[in-house]
Amino acid sequence: MSKVHGYTVRVDWSVCYGCEKCVTACPTDVFIMMTDTTGKAVADPIREADCILCLVCEIVCPVKAIYIERKGGSEDTLQSLLQGTDEN
Ligand code: SF4
Ligand code: SF4
Repeated sequence: MSKVHGYTVRVDWSVCYGCEKCVTACPTDVFIMMTDTTGKAVADPIREADCILCLVCEIVCPVKAIYIERKGGSEDTLQSLLQGTDEN
């Protein structure tokens, strides 16, 4: 059985160790913390419909447990955030 939760925002619970960095970093409050069947703390992308595809959670996760399904413009948005500039 897959331990990946979410469709657009995918969290692999076999990798996540519950550090909560994604919860703190996400600008649209996509994640909540919960426990898996073994009692381990994990991040659940329960509000993934609110995701703006900024990719920040992918960067802050220390163990690369998160994968964001790419859509057009995501990489551009990330670069803008990293550079702090808007090229428009
Ligand atoms: S990509 Fe951005 S908006 Fe989407 S879940 Fe990650 S931090 Fe939140
Ligand atoms: S940042 Fe990564 S390891 Fe930490 S709670 Fe989120 S998904 Fe899990």
